[in-house]
Amino acid sequence: MYLHLIQLSVTTKVISNISDSQFGCYHNRFGDGRHGRQPLPAAIEPAITEPEYIPSSEHGIDKRQISSGCLSTIARLQQAGYTAYLVGGAVRDLLLGRVPKDFDVATSATPEQVRRVFHRCRLIGRRFRLAHVYAGMETIEVATFRGSGNSDTHTEHEHLIQDGRIVRDNVFGSEHEDAVRRDFTANALFYEPGKQQLIDYVGGYTDLKQRRLRLIGDAQTRYREDPVRMLRAVRFASSRNLSLADSVNQPIPKLAHLLSQVPPARLFDEVCKLMLSGTAYKATCNLVKYQLFTQLFPDIQASIDSQHLLQTTSMLISALHNTDKRVAQELPVTPGFLFAVLLWEPLQLRITVLLKQNLNHNQAMIQASQELLFEQSRTIALPRRFGAMCREIWVMQHRFRHICGKRAISLFTEVRFRAAYDFLLLRAEQEPEFREQAEWWSHLQTLNPEQQRKKMGLPPASNNNGDDKVHKKRSSRRKRKRPKTDTAPNN
Ligand code: ATP
Ligand code: MG
Repeated sequence: MYLHLIQLSVTTKVISNISDSQFGCYHNRFGDGRHGRQPLPAAIEPAITEPEYIPSSEHGIDKRQISSGCLSTIARLQQAGYTAYLVGGAVRDLLLGRVPKDFDVATSATPEQVRRVFHRCRLIGRRFRLAHVYAGMETIEVATFRGSGNSDTHTEHEHLIQDGRIVRDNVFGSEHEDAVRRDFTANALFYEPGKQQLIDYVGGYTDLKQRRLRLIGDAQTRYREDPVRMLRAVRFASSRNLSLADSVNQPIPKLAHLLSQVPPARLFDEVCKLMLSGTAYKATCNLVKYQLFTQLFPDIQASIDSQHLLQTTSMLISALHNTDKRVAQELPVTPGFLFAVLLWEPLQLRITVLLKQNLNHNQAMIQASQELLFEQSRTIALPRRFGAMCREIWVMQHRFRHICGKRAISLFTEVRFRAAYDFLLLRAEQEPEFREQAEWWSHLQTLNPEQQRKKMGLPPASNNNGDDKVHKKRSSRRKRKRPKTDTAPNN
């Protein structure tokens, strides 16, 4: 919103090792690039980028858009003598005119020091230790400035790299180091609420003005350190409408295989963010384009040539568009439904093979879904409840052919009926033979309970003992409180 009003005036001054040593001083990697410089061997001397300070008259961020919990957290850290800034996605989104979904703080205080400043605070994480500060109803994530951890003085406990991949990152450093260890320039801007100024070590402000996503440092190295950055690149390009610099997208197809090193639970979180942020269709197109999709869903590739994925499986396209529409309308969406759609084609392929081995349809469906969900969980760890939802939706598809009697009412009163029915509608869009079924079940839902019983060929409710009343079955599982995205059916 603000960016197009602003003139391009930011210049980033990079001082190389050579020019520094020519001036007879070296950057102190524990300092912030401006103070306390001490001689260091040129071999380990990082390039110094002087920060650009961008005033509020130029960047246009309105402080009132920042949560009060975040502002008070920063103020209290500063009062206690530490440096503290708003950082990361919130700064990026404010500059793009979007409402940030959360506010992260970066500080010079260590996690223990943060805990001493706040009564309501908890330290979390192992791979990346940070503090959660509770301000009213808000939780503010407070992370200590990180260093690169390239020095021999750091123990494995603090910073661990295996095969070029960062597996632990708890080396603290300066704010400059913290900026350059972040993934994209757009994500590395600091905002200081007191002076209302942006602090930019990496040229992120200019990149954002040009709506460009650029990695900090050498792309190959950064992707090897953390392959999830490839998915993040796709996510920000899709959801924030940013263009990927050539240096960002070119290495991806060659390095896509590195996703196999990422823990499946982390991939599940990332895939949910990709698919449930309102731009699932665009994100999927980009995943296919950069050959990441086949890494995430190997079974889908086995059943459909990935290059034709988006042309041939229009059921998937419909589901992705529907999901995006629902997110835009702030309706609940669930990964269970989306995974059921994504894995439907490979499921059919497995069922066909099993049917040839003389299993009946039910047996084949159960075995195929078990195998498929197990295989998929090696790459993306789909939590049990979502796996169960996929299975229920799939199994119920075959039951939709029963349109009368107790079988029909039993299906109609299933907890997952609505999600399975939505799935049937998607299938009917593509496969004409299911249209009649879909219409029958759609019509049923427009009737009152007595009419519904009549349509299903059942006697009026008053005539029987009531064990097949038209009401939803109670779930046998204990009800648990879950976030909005977890439980609701897709429509
Ligand atoms: P969103 O919250 O919308 O998902 P975000 O950029 O805030 O986007 P977070 O996961 O909240 O993403 O991370 C906060 C910040 O931490 C990022 O903006 C970035 O600066 C840094 N960061 C996150 N993940 C990585 C990573 N894999 N490598 C380097 N820096 C990262
Ligand atoms: Mg964030």
